[in-house]
Amino acid sequence: MARPSSMHVAVVGAGIVGAAAAHFLAAAGTRVTVLDASGPAAGATGASDGAVSVASKRPGPMMELARHARAFYGQLEAEGVFHGLFHRRSTFLIAQNALEAELVSQHGADLAQAGERVIAVARAELMNRIPGLGEGVTAALEIPDDGHALGYQITSRLLQRSGIVVRRRASVSEIVVRDGHAVGVALAGEILSADAVLVAAGIGSAHLLNLGDILIPRKGQMIVTDRASTGRPAIDGHLMGASYLAAKRGIVLDRSHIGLVIDPLVTGQFLLGGSREDNRSDHRTDAVTVSAILRAALELYPPLGARRVVRTFAGVRTASRDGLPIIGRHPHVDGLVVATGFEGDGICLGPFMGESAARMILDRPLAADLSMLTPSRFARAEACQ
Ligand SMILES: Cc1cc2nc3c(=O)[nH]c(=O)nc-3n(C[C@H](O)[C@H](O)[C@H](O)COP(=O)(O)OP(=O)(O)OC[C@H]3O[C@@H](n4cnc5c(N)ncnc54)[C@H](O)[C@@H]3O)c2cc1C
Repeated sequence: MARPSSMHVAVVGAGIVGAAAAHFLAAAGTRVTVLDASGPAAGATGASDGAVSVASKRPGPMMELARHARAFYGQLEAEGVFHGLFHRRSTFLIAQNALEAELVSQHGADLAQAGERVIAVARAELMNRIPGLGEGVTAALEIPDDGHALGYQITSRLLQRSGIVVRRRASVSEIVVRDGHAVGVALAGEILSADAVLVAAGIGSAHLLNLGDILIPRKGQMIVTDRASTGRPAIDGHLMGASYLAAKRGIVLDRSHIGLVIDPLVTGQFLLGGSREDNRSDHRTDAVTVSAILRAALELYPPLGARRVVRTFAGVRTASRDGLPIIGRHPHVDGLVVATGFEGDGICLGPFMGESAARMILDRPLAADLSMLTPSRFARAEACQ
């Protein structure tokens, strides 16, 4: 592979992962072209919540990686890169019946085992911290070291800091491979030559890499309220219902397909979510799902009844068949790196994963073991060709 200073890398996708990779490649002196079928943050990154949360992760590698990723946010904030964009706040894991209390307690034990600070909060104290919380709340754990960042703001900052101008409306139709090496990308009427290619195209990666039976679109609908406070979050932490933990841990608590989060934004608004609708890649919101989210949210935090709904939106997560992201060198094509499948965790993981993808392209050692995420775990005759 060429030396960084003389190397040209084509990054397909200007979501948070592609933008982060491009930022760190540029910082290493590499020439980068970022191409997006639409524009920066046009995919899941621009239609998501922004929990930079270890509390929400499945035990095992995802919890471990989220700890690295959240620390990376802290580092970039301290270095000024994310100044004003990354906000630290607690996550409260909340149970409303005995079954949920058991799940929350198990999840808290798993978090503590992973090295996370976990604090049991008595009901009276919780009511004091978050006045108005529903009568049905039976148990809560506080995870005090989580944070929040908006994906589109992070994406924009990363691109702007490295002076990268994204090529918009540049839909890549194919990775050009010669003698087993990626040598560029094909767009309408054009071949863009490159020494290496990163595919960070979210659900668009399925078509480019023949991952159609491995990547699953998972739609999520969300609701935005008006401001309950001005210039600061309306409540003292992010509320995460046990239904959200259940969804992440692959447990079916009910049939609503809602994993409830009540996210107090720094604007004073609430972001309420969200649905998990498999094999749906449209961006429509519907009254049945929106009312199910509102019902669950009002039960947990009745003061929301005084709020106005100002917007609903839907985004499409890219899930993988085994529930883990896919990041690593392509098993059969040199100079091709893949970074997709971040499902509902890509705002948290994105900067760290983008930086890791840049290291892979530059052939530099990684800051964490990502071997369990390698694309070659799916390598079969028909996949990743
Ligand atoms: C409702 C919802 C809530 C979420 N909440 C959270 C949360 O609280 N915390 C968290 O960590 N994560 C959350 N996520 C997940 C997070 O948004 C994603 O994991 C993350 O944004 C994925 O980033 P990405 O860069 O991999 O992909 P994307 O943001 O999807 O970017 C891919 C880009 O590639 C472009 N593209 C696609 N195909 C092509 C092509 N052929 N040629 C050129 N460009 C192409 C697209 O236009 C797009 O801009 C949420 C997601 C949703 C939908």
